[in-house]
Amino acid sequence: MPLKDWTCAACGGTGDLLLMQEAGPACMACAALDHLVFLPRGDAGLTRRAHKASELSAVVVRFSRTRKRYERQGLLVEPAAMAAAKQRD
Ligand SMILES: [Zn+2]
Repeated sequence: MPLKDWTCAACGGTGDLLLMQEAGPACMACAALDHLVFLPRGDAGLTRRAHKASELSAVVVRFSRTRKRYERQGLLVEPAAMAAAKQRD
């Protein structure tokens, strides 16, 4: 999760999330992650099940200026994995 305005190094776009790559920040579309859905942290069981069911997943972090470290905000998972994880609640 970016703290400031940013521009995708590949397409010049921007967004709520970015992936840092060698060439610079990439938007979710250019990182081929735009089909994933965001699962906020807080429900450990749901997160664990969704993570397990999702072939592709990504941890979402945000830099905390006060704590001076990256903090986990949630997980990006495949929509089907999210649905499967919720069904077993
Ligand atoms: Zn892009």
